[in-house]
Amino acid sequence: MARKQVIGNWKMHGSIGQIRSVLSEVSRAELGANVSVCVAYPYLGLAKTLLKDTAVQVGAQDVCEFHIGAYTGEVSAAMLADVGCELVIVGHSERRRYFGETSETAARKVRATLDAGLLPVYCVGETAEQRESGIAHQVIAEELQVLAGVPTSLYAVAYEPSWAVGTGVIATPEQIAEMHAFIKQTLDARTRVLYGGSVKASNTAQVLAVDGVDGVLVGGAALSASEFLEICRIAG
Ligand code: 13P
Repeated sequence: MARKQVIGNWKMHGSIGQIRSVLSEVSRAELGANVSVCVAYPYLGLAKTLLKDTAVQVGAQDVCEFHIGAYTGEVSAAMLADVGCELVIVGHSERRRYFGETSETAARKVRATLDAGLLPVYCVGETAEQRESGIAHQVIAEELQVLAGVPTSLYAVAYEPSWAVGTGVIATPEQIAEMHAFIKQTLDARTRVLYGGSVKASNTAQVLAVDGVDGVLVGGAALSASEFLEICRIAG
């Protein structure tokens, strides 16, 4: 199996102690650049320091849509690049759900991320209601419009159905295969598409074996060094 991408999304979890403990172990595991960790803003510098002798990349979980200026509380893509980030998660379902983020805002964030030379990992996915009412493809096609005109090699997409995020209910291999094929068909066959939503060490091999899955975006399971390292080992 070719090496797959693994991105750990710490969300609003962690502390200096926990990040030091988990990432110190990660740093000793001789992982490749196919592995990334996205910790909360205050810990990005710490993560860079802990991972400095490794190929593991560090990313942010969000970014400001504006480049510079009087935007109190915001963090620009240039600042993220300045502290050594390589990637940014954009349009996560939790941002859309709790912070009113739309695909329009996400489009500007993707642009800002690209302008700073970073990789946007753009999240798409349907809710349970949208899937039940048969509009999942329509929802995802609309979300994907954000990427129109952006060269495929400059971004990755994460398919994260919100009903599978943090619920322990993972999408079935058939659902994953079908939606990844749809995303690649809509954008470009070469688009890197990761799956996210209740990925654990115990189901990683099954998810990565699905046709069209180029990696995994891991939430809760990224907070445990042993669990995360097992996922990375399975990814190759
Ligand atoms: P969980 O792995 O905790 O379900 O979270 C997935 C996710 O949202 C990653 O971005």
